[in-house]
Formats: sequence, structure tokens, C-alpha cells
Amino acid sequence: MSDEAARLAEGMTPAQRDRVKVLGHTCERDGCGKVAGWGFARPRRESHWFCYEHRGDGDQYL
Ligand SMILES: [Zn+2]
Repeated sequence: MSDEAARLAEGMTPAQRDRVKVLGHTCERDGCGKVAGWGFARPRRESHWFCYEHRGDGDQYL
């Protein structure tokens, strides 16, 4: 892989994060990355987000 390709890949990461912020959230399950419609949070805790398939994972944060 060329240096140019590596730089491009690094540069894409923050852009993808920004796009996710606009859309909402993505599932926190490793390797999933789907749009997450289910948020789980306790007061004063960071919220956790999961897609329809993995929303059961969020129960541990409640
Ligand atoms: Zn998921």
C-alpha cells in the first residue's frame, strides 16, 4: 500500500464519524455498524446505542 493510500484512509475516519453524528448513532456491537435506533443510558452515564438486532445488548447499561 502506498503512503498516499494510508493517508487517505486516516483522513476518512473523522469524516465518517461526522456523518454518523448527523444521522444519529451506530450500533456498538463489534462488527455491526448499523444505524442504531435504540439508545440506553442511565442518568449521568454515557449513552449506548444498538440496532434492532442487538438492542438486547443495551439492557446491561440500564
Ligand atoms: Zn447491531
